[in-house]
Amino acid sequence: MWQAEVRVDLDAIRANVAHLAAGTSAEVMAVVKSDGYGHGMVASARAALDGGATWLGVASMTEAITLREHGLTAPILAWLIVPGLPLHDAVAADIDLSVATLGLLDEVIVAAERAERVARVHLKIDTGMTRGGATPEEWPVLLEAAAKAQSDGLIDVVGIWSHFSCADTPGHPSVDAQLAAFHTGLEVAGRFGVTPRYRHIANSAALLTRPDTHFDLVRPGIAIYGLSPMGGRVDGLRPAMTARARVMIAKRVPAGSGVSYGHTYITPAESTIAVVPIGYADGVPRHGSNGGPVLIGGQVRPIAGRVCMDQFMVDCGDDPVQAGDTVTLFGPGDDGEPTVEDWADAVGTISWEILARFGSARVPRVFDGLRPEAGV
Ligand SMILES: *Cc1c(COP(=O)(O)O)cnc(C)c1O
Repeated sequence: MWQAEVRVDLDAIRANVAHLAAGTSAEVMAVVKSDGYGHGMVASARAALDGGATWLGVASMTEAITLREHGLTAPILAWLIVPGLPLHDAVAADIDLSVATLGLLDEVIVAAERAERVARVHLKIDTGMTRGGATPEEWPVLLEAAAKAQSDGLIDVVGIWSHFSCADTPGHPSVDAQLAAFHTGLEVAGRFGVTPRYRHIANSAALLTRPDTHFDLVRPGIAIYGLSPMGGRVDGLRPAMTARARVMIAKRVPAGSGVSYGHTYITPAESTIAVVPIGYADGVPRHGSNGGPVLIGGQVRPIAGRVCMDQFMVDCGDDPVQAGDTVTLFGPGDDGEPTVEDWADAVGTISWEILARFGSARVPRVFDGLRPEAGV
């Protein structure tokens, strides 16, 4: 018996990755940062590798090491590295590190010496997102230092990479501008003799819409979990996450009853109020107060009143809703339940954030399609 749960369909992740891999000649790096976008990092990584991914991508070094500790041997790139981390642990665990500054390059060199191992590096160029990455001015200086460290046998420049800012808006002029800047960055690198095997810039959106951005490796995140970065559905992708709970109490209340904190919802007529034991601490956005859609008693209805930390209410009118009934917040949509995207639209955010919110500790995550040998 369950009270609230996040179900993760690992077969959907396998099939999504297989579908994406079939659509490109590049290798696929499955992005499993932030606990696999809330789906469970290790299980998602294994499913993605089953589906044909050959690389894993994460933000932090800690995430990368966790993957190694679970026995995952595929190449892993970690790209958010602040100064002063124990990088020798990453080098010793054979984790590829993104480097965009001379300062970090120096730290990686020290880590390589300490770990007595060649450090694997992906040099990052900022092609126009103004997030991580060397600026075009810094790029030649970084390349020169990296080329020297490589010839000294301290680092192996495995990749050159960048990231798009607006690829989910097909036709946005920045996509062409960033792609041109990336080509220029690669040319400059070639002049320094830095010609790594992996050039990569495409996220899910670029993978799905711009084959000319695939290069040697693509880095889909949201698409492996079955969501379209452009909104709507993509043929061949199936949403992997379902979030649901069971009604705790269903009770008849008179017209004019104020519901939840602040009484922002007043029942317009006598009705049945369902109390659902999952709240904002579990990932339900508080902005879903008075509007977030759920499937209950065969109907999609909005949350009534404010979402509380641990629960919310739904006005079910005269529907025969009872304690124990299932309330589905979102899923693949097979039974008419809302989708992650419906939730994102209802609360003014993006599907990435909805997924990432549902990785909380309190709601158990249940895997469908877990392979016994996976050991997670
Ligand atoms: C999160 C992330 C991705 C994946 O992005 P999606 O839009 O989810 O496909 C790829 N590359 C980098 C650097 C990222 O941070």
